[in-house]
Amino acid sequence: MCKDKLIKYLSRLDFGVRHYTFYFTLSQADRMKVFFNANDDVAVARPQKISFGKAEAPSFHQDVRERVDEYFKQNDLSKGANFEMKLKTFLILTLWAGTYLLIIFQLVTPPVMLILAMLHGFSMALIGMNIGHDAIHGAYSKNSRVNKILGLSFNMVGANDYVWNITHNIVHHTYTNMPHYDEDIQQIPILRMDPTQELKPIHRFQYIYAFFFYCLATISWVFVKDYVKFFQHQIGPYYREKFPRNEIVRLFLHKALYYAVFLVIPFLVLDLAWYWILLGFVASHFVSGFTLAIIFMLAHIIEGTAFPEPNVEGKMDMPWADLQMYTTCNFAINNRVVNYLFGGLNFQAEHHLFPKVCHVHYPKISKIVKQTAQKHGLPYLTKDTFFGAIASHTRLLKAFGRPAPAMG
Ligand SMILES: [Zn+2]
Repeated sequence: MCKDKLIKYLSRLDFGVRHYTFYFTLSQADRMKVFFNANDDVAVARPQKISFGKAEAPSFHQDVRERVDEYFKQNDLSKGANFEMKLKTFLILTLWAGTYLLIIFQLVTPPVMLILAMLHGFSMALIGMNIGHDAIHGAYSKNSRVNKILGLSFNMVGANDYVWNITHNIVHHTYTNMPHYDEDIQQIPILRMDPTQELKPIHRFQYIYAFFFYCLATISWVFVKDYVKFFQHQIGPYYREKFPRNEIVRLFLHKALYYAVFLVIPFLVLDLAWYWILLGFVASHFVSGFTLAIIFMLAHIIEGTAFPEPNVEGKMDMPWADLQMYTTCNFAINNRVVNYLFGGLNFQAEHHLFPKVCHVHYPKISKIVKQTAQKHGLPYLTKDTFFGAIASHTRLLKAFGRPAPAMG
């Protein structure tokens, strides 16, 4: 009885907080119960293994893959980075290093340094979206070593490539938008991002305050989230018994290096009051956090996307590739600035179907994906403009903050 109460209590806690309470006293079976009952009053374990439906041949997935492969073959193109991508990599890294060096050598006045710090924050987001994201997916190059090295750019901006690979590549890309399984839509209890989460009175205002929490996204990665997720046995339906020792060393080493370069050195060498330095650090992270969070949100938490759940046996009523089409939304795909800056994340359907194709190819293959989706009777969700997508995201947040059915 007492154990049941504990399970129920723990299942109501935030993923991260839960791990540091009495979670460790439970057996593995009971931990599973806690996890799969999150935000739920019913003490019935959710299915731990998810299986996806099988489509009749030729499936959409098979069809779209063959057509896209044909495109690369016909045009004699590699699926990895092309010259444009390499140039972009160079420009982004130059912006990142240049802004830091201009600040650290104090070549400008403090207010200009603050602007540079914000620009530096923007370059961090660009690194994450354009270089790290592609490299960790294995999309940048055919050579896995190149991907491994460029994946380190993630750690260079304070995040952790190993944690990202689990939370993003494995969990988010497999169980996209599935409540209780995709942790991307269950970030913090104060944000209700899917219709199954418990509605609290404060959620009524989430369409306003959500944007402030987006600003905290990368500060949270740098100081809290990566550590919490790293030492969490269960991330979504993904379970790990042990944490690789070399990854533990890498986590602490890379974090320490990041703190040294971006916090300790500025405090030691800059001839400025401490609050200027702290302000610069926070401002850079506000810009990077906001940019990253909003771009990732627009792709899934937007009017029109679905939040499907499996049946009691863990079976989804659709194949995996079809799920991607129902849960992802493209935006501003004719906007050259958005296409260039945001790592192809505005071509989210293409990205989810072809995560191992470098994002510079998405605009070209989008026509094939759209046609094939239409042929198979699947949606191809798009919002025409960037600000239209932000407005739609805001409306959905507003709807999820109220009791009425929220699907747009
Ligand atoms: Zn991805």
